[in-house]
Amino acid sequence: MEKKKGIGTLCVQAGYKPGRGESRQIPIIQSTTFKYETSDQMGRLFDLEDSGYFYTRLQNPTDDLVAAKITALEGGFAGMLTSSGQAANWFACLNICQAGDHIVSTNNIYGGSFNLLGTSFRKLGIDVTFIHADSSEEEIRAALRPNTKLIFAEVLSNPSVEVLDIERYARVAHAFGVPLIVDNTFATPVNCRPIEFGADIVTHSTTKYMDGHGVAVGGAIVDSGNFPWSDWPERFPGLCTPDASYHGLVYTQAFGKGAFITKAVSQLMRDFGAQQGPQNAFYLNLGLQSLHVRMQRHCESAMQVARFLQGHPDVAWVRYPGLESDPYHALAQKYMPGGTCGVMCIGLKGGRDFDNRFMDALQLITIETHVADCYSCILHPASHTHRQLSDEQLREAGIDPGLMRLSIGLEDAADIIDDLDQALRAAH
Ligand SMILES: *Cc1c(COP(=O)(O)O)cnc(C)c1O
Repeated sequence: MEKKKGIGTLCVQAGYKPGRGESRQIPIIQSTTFKYETSDQMGRLFDLEDSGYFYTRLQNPTDDLVAAKITALEGGFAGMLTSSGQAANWFACLNICQAGDHIVSTNNIYGGSFNLLGTSFRKLGIDVTFIHADSSEEEIRAALRPNTKLIFAEVLSNPSVEVLDIERYARVAHAFGVPLIVDNTFATPVNCRPIEFGADIVTHSTTKYMDGHGVAVGGAIVDSGNFPWSDWPERFPGLCTPDASYHGLVYTQAFGKGAFITKAVSQLMRDFGAQQGPQNAFYLNLGLQSLHVRMQRHCESAMQVARFLQGHPDVAWVRYPGLESDPYHALAQKYMPGGTCGVMCIGLKGGRDFDNRFMDALQLITIETHVADCYSCILHPASHTHRQLSDEQLREAGIDPGLMRLSIGLEDAADIIDDLDQALRAAH
């Protein structure tokens, strides 16, 4: 058997092997549609009896090459790209759930995911119970209902950088008979491969570290192929009973381990059309090719910055799982021993006006809503994304009014530290 390749080799090469005289780099197939010789060939595609491209709303060759790379990085069976991280989580959940169903989710997930599940899914008739990410097995079990179809969580939460005990969640999910879907955006497969710890489906906002340069919004879904859908055919009718829109085809029977992704492409992409454009997939691949190098640098610099801030008299607290004092340090050591990511949360001692003077004085670090790319940036939820909430409402939502999310980019760590130092001085 061929020796298993390292993660860096996969970042550069996985998913695409050009033949003689073909382009070394993944080509951009900028075409909405694809040509066939006979009417029968086209007919067989629409019956899912042949595989082949026919319309980019469903599938595009450039997207598939990049999806194959992300699938290899995660150690999954099959994968697909989506137009955004929001679309990835939407499709991953809606591929299993319908009106009348129920989802259990951790409550520390990204704000957009919280709205997706808590607002839009509820409007679709899919109910959600939010639980604390540190819940015990009994507490997770207590949230499950007969109509629960999946458990959703973030591996490393945005923005609170809390580490999920993936194995605990996988144990409860599998004992009950539902898949564990995890969003692995912040750790990336370079630092954590959740499928190795029992996660069934992994999602990404590729907009963050995977792209890494702030150029292309995108998402990805990777299926491990491990979840035994057909053990519970009544629970997962969409996968285990005939699909009338494909002449009664049963996904689990026709596609085995590929059932989940085939259904998501042929049903959800067909009907909702949240495809990633091939040009964006090309940019995403450029990001992936240096992901392993960049993640290491993000983590090293973040560690230096976290230590600097921890020792600074104006800083009340620093939350970064790389710090030995962090409540999630032990879990981080287990699930992401090579490092977590470049994001940390900090609180200053001087109060709201001091916070604002500090942010205004930053010169290299920019104020922006984005995180997790090459530019160092900062966001203060109480003044920015969540400014309509009172301090009391913020605390109810689990957000310390003083919390600032600091994302360490790829600039020199010494320059980032100098900038923080001068801004803290200027805020006095
Ligand atoms: C940003 C983000 C999303 C949403 O992704 P978009 O690409 O912005 O749609 C989902 N999950 C996490 C953890 C994120 O950070």
